[in-house]
Amino acid sequence: MLAENLKTVRENITEACRRANRDPSEVTLVAVSKTKPEADIQEIYGQGVRDFGENYVQELVEKIDHLPGDIRWHMIGHLQRNKVKYLARRADSIALIHSVDTYRLAEEINIQAKKNKRIIDILVEVNIADEDSKFGISREDALSLIQDIAGLDGIHIRGLMTSAPNVKNAEENRAYFRSIKALAVDINSRNIDNVEMDILSMGMTNDYQIAIEEGSTMVRVGTAIFGARDYHRKS
Ligand SMILES: *Cc1c(COP(=O)(O)O)cnc(C)c1O
Repeated sequence: MLAENLKTVRENITEACRRANRDPSEVTLVAVSKTKPEADIQEIYGQGVRDFGENYVQELVEKIDHLPGDIRWHMIGHLQRNKVKYLARRADSIALIHSVDTYRLAEEINIQAKKNKRIIDILVEVNIADEDSKFGISREDALSLIQDIAGLDGIHIRGLMTSAPNVKNAEENRAYFRSIKALAVDINSRNIDNVEMDILSMGMTNDYQIAIEEGSTMVRVGTAIFGARDYHRKS
């Protein structure tokens, strides 16, 4: 069942790449497993997926401790500064923090990275549609935040992350994805020290195919793989 879901997602990714003349190897699928039990993750792991995304630090840390050591974990949810230390202690298992949107949070990640003698890869989260309900820096302020964070040598900026609005027709988000891609190209052209723009984390269950057509290199897909989430159930 989950394997079937995964197969469909992988086929859709390949198809979207083909439409955009892109090589599917340019797009990493992050299976978003928040609230889902470890058995579900094991099943998808068994199908060859190694990148998993989680939103809550405590849940992420427990899963890191229980699941195979070669999983690349992605912290995709809003991150509180007082939780950063728990992630930094497991920096070897955490591929990327996608959700950095303030200098204060970056500073704390930098401190904890140094304590653990690591450099932590991050993305800067952009609130592309200026939605009140979402975290992320505005498009206008992204460059100056990135210039500030670039000075922190325990952190390495790898690109941008965004969550587009929850719309009925994913086509409505195409312009947002295009706008993030353009922002990344602009920032990249400035050749800022310690800043790469090789990762664009955008596209979720509802819109990952459109996001890929517009240049996403990392899609974060939960529901289409694991089914709907039940937040009342303890995973
Ligand atoms: C939950 C979540 C996802 C996955 O969403 P689906 O619609 O289930 O694919 C992706 N990104 C973030 C930041 C999330 O919180």
